[in-house]
Amino acid sequence: MTYRAATGDFDAAPAQDPRYERSAVIDLDAIRHNVRRLAATASPAKVMAVVKADAYGHGAVPVARAALEAGAAWLGVAHISEALALRAAGIDAPLLAWLHTTESNFGAAVAAGVDIGCSGWELERIVAAAREQERPARIHLKVDTGLGRNGATMDTWDHLVGEAMEYQDQGLLRVVGIFSHLAVADEPERPETDQQLAAFRDVLAVAADAGVDPEVRHLANTPATLSRPDTHFDLVRVGLGIYGLSPFDGQTSAELGLRPAMTLRAVVSQCKEVPDGQGVSYGLRYHTNGASTLGLIPVGYADGIPRVATGGPVRVAGKTYPVVGRIAMDQMVIDLGDVGPAGAGLFGAEAELFGNGADGGPTVDDWARAAGTINYEIVTRISPRVPRRFINEQAPAPGGAAAVVHGGEGAA
Ligand SMILES: *Cc1c(COP(=O)(O)O)cnc(C)c1O
Repeated sequence: MTYRAATGDFDAAPAQDPRYERSAVIDLDAIRHNVRRLAATASPAKVMAVVKADAYGHGAVPVARAALEAGAAWLGVAHISEALALRAAGIDAPLLAWLHTTESNFGAAVAAGVDIGCSGWELERIVAAAREQERPARIHLKVDTGLGRNGATMDTWDHLVGEAMEYQDQGLLRVVGIFSHLAVADEPERPETDQQLAAFRDVLAVAADAGVDPEVRHLANTPATLSRPDTHFDLVRVGLGIYGLSPFDGQTSAELGLRPAMTLRAVVSQCKEVPDGQGVSYGLRYHTNGASTLGLIPVGYADGIPRVATGGPVRVAGKTYPVVGRIAMDQMVIDLGDVGPAGAGLFGAEAELFGNGADGGPTVDDWARAAGTINYEIVTRISPRVPRRFINEQAPAPGGAAAVVHGGEGAA
């Protein structure tokens, strides 16, 4: 059989298409829906769609385009290299990169109109890059209001602002933004968010006194966008929420009006009847309890499912089974029970590890619980070996295609 579906549609495609065997299906309509939902909550503040780490595993370029179509005004990434990849794909929206090393290519960032987060040490390098490129750099000054990671300390803030303003006066840069990052916004009852907010207001006042007139002041991540309107300022930086996942323990995506965008699916690669007491997978940590049928799922830790996540759910033919025995590099096993010859009917069936949860199916959160981690990590680690398949690439709304790439007034 040499036939291949010309459409590339996995539902119609023959098994030779690798996306039919195993894929992470990314629903770009869900991305658009989530961005609109978050934009409505944030309004009048604008939305920066955070698409670092290949859009948390969802595919940076298609997600960035969908987010911009749905009203995101900015894009955000960690590394300059990630920003340059978006520019290379023709995306010219305002774009901020905030995590740098001495090896970062500040010159390329300035040349590509990428905004650069600056915590202090970067300033001299950014200015050197601006001189070399004969183009003013666009920077966002970052302050550490309590997270203890990136950002200028409160003690050095005054000095950093002063230096930046001298360079701005010389035409070498423009202070476009001032920002900070929250530590505990996913736990709304904790007091530290108030303390960080108060500190942020203080540093904004210091900057205003020094004559800084930023376009955007930004502090909120997804949890703060959803739970703390007083943190919105001019712009919110949302990552997790645009992927449809909940940042809160005990609150589902649906309760927040969000739609999970990634479905992880594969085809059951073997079903076989085994006797009572059959050991399963490395270490033989599981034995069947009675005669049973084992289903083999061709997804493992090389695909990004954590090895510790035994017990995670896999849905086959409308029923959800826990993974039994150790998860291996390429595969995992579910115990279909004493179904007799009927089990063979599940050979070649679709297995869903997680999806949008709308129909009671398994979710990213289930896998996060099984692995003792958070939903962020589950989707972000789905590896490049799993083909991404994008659905609903075309926005149904009028004017969708024309709005794919914005001319970013702030990007020049
Ligand atoms: C990753 C990141 C975000 C997005 O956080 P979410 O909780 O996913 O919304 C925002 N700001 C910074 C600085 C980040 O590193």
